[in-house]
Amino acid sequence: MEPTIFEREQHSMFQVYRRLPMAVERGDGCRLYDIDGRAYLDFLAGIAVNALGYNYPKLTDAIIRQVQSYLHVSNVFFQEPQVRLAELLTEHTGYARVFFSNSGAEALEGALKLAKRWGNERGKHELLAFKGGFHGRTYGALSMMDKPLYKDGMGPFLPNTQVLPLNDSAALRSAVNKETCAVVLEFLQGEGGIVFADPDFVNTILELQEQYDFLIIADEIQAGIGRTGKFFGFDHFMVKPDIVLLAKALGGGLPLGAILGGKKVENVWDKGMHGTTFGGNPVACAAGEVVVKEVIAHLQHNAHETGCYLRENLIILQNEFPSLIEEVRGCGLMMGLKLSVLAAPFVQAMLQRRVIVNATADTVIRLVPPLVVKRADIDEFAIAMRECFIEYLAQSSSASTASNGTAKAKQPATV
Ligand SMILES: *Cc1c(COP(=O)(O)O)cnc(C)c1O
Repeated sequence: MEPTIFEREQHSMFQVYRRLPMAVERGDGCRLYDIDGRAYLDFLAGIAVNALGYNYPKLTDAIIRQVQSYLHVSNVFFQEPQVRLAELLTEHTGYARVFFSNSGAEALEGALKLAKRWGNERGKHELLAFKGGFHGRTYGALSMMDKPLYKDGMGPFLPNTQVLPLNDSAALRSAVNKETCAVVLEFLQGEGGIVFADPDFVNTILELQEQYDFLIIADEIQAGIGRTGKFFGFDHFMVKPDIVLLAKALGGGLPLGAILGGKKVENVWDKGMHGTTFGGNPVACAAGEVVVKEVIAHLQHNAHETGCYLRENLIILQNEFPSLIEEVRGCGLMMGLKLSVLAAPFVQAMLQRRVIVNATADTVIRLVPPLVVKRADIDEFAIAMRECFIEYLAQSSSASTASNGTAKAKQPATV
């Protein structure tokens, strides 16, 4: 018998990904179709990447047009798609300058270099970040993170870095001094379990910045570009970071990241100080222009509206299953259900009902659907989610009965 794609992957690729048992054939709107033709409602969207869902005609058209012109020429040349996207971003956000990268981690790396270059002239060398943050898999990014699974046995990491508890103003006050160069944070943590910074904590950052003059680097790679119902996640606070990182949704599914820099850093870099071969790929930038325009025109509004509807549904579920759902987190279309139990079994149970969700931070079900999602999709998700919670409770009660020897559970109650 021919080996399956699952076996072939196992024998040919490094086994670093815990993949869902599903091979994708194609996508359309908020649906993915597997190689057996089954349709799935996708509330993961390529990990908060596919803001426009799948097969979005304007996006496809823009990509095809650019593919027919040129795929790549390198940053030796001036390229209209890059400049257009940079103009769109600067005009819409008020940031002064843009640098395009290929990925989120690469944007973070560039931002650390930019910050260091700014800080080194001022005797500022220390970089601070916060627990639960996720910034990518490169050495600079990992140096700004505390997750053992991602770091163990792979050090040493960057010196002059510290990862502090999030929302702990006292810890921050004792860490910051005149040598602090920058603080890096997700104002709404994604991977960390859909966790907001406290407004008080953000005020402490601002107050300390006033006192010591360091840079604030906002990692908006997941929360940015309309997902939370505002253009940036940090727009939910009274703050204007000095450097902003974008990636994930920016290229509409093509690899594209960006560093946005405000006035304070606009002249820090000179010719040759940073660069990339592929970053700012013209096809990705042409896609990015469509994404950003669609987000501004209507999808950010949909993220807010449909996000509110999602939240209402999650709260109804929480009221129905208070023993399982501890908290409804996030806003817009970046939501999380903090459970009292592990989230992974629910990902599998939802997949059986043809809905794709994701588990993060062990006990959080992360919901980051395409920004084109509709109320009817939310209804469909909520029905499946309810069934999964009912099934879970039924199984755990039959499992506890089973331990008395009267019934047999299909699955252990706790995994
Ligand atoms: C995904 C993500 C990154 C890393 O992006 P990559 O493109 O995977 O390198 C960094 N920061 C945040 C907040 C992310 O969600």
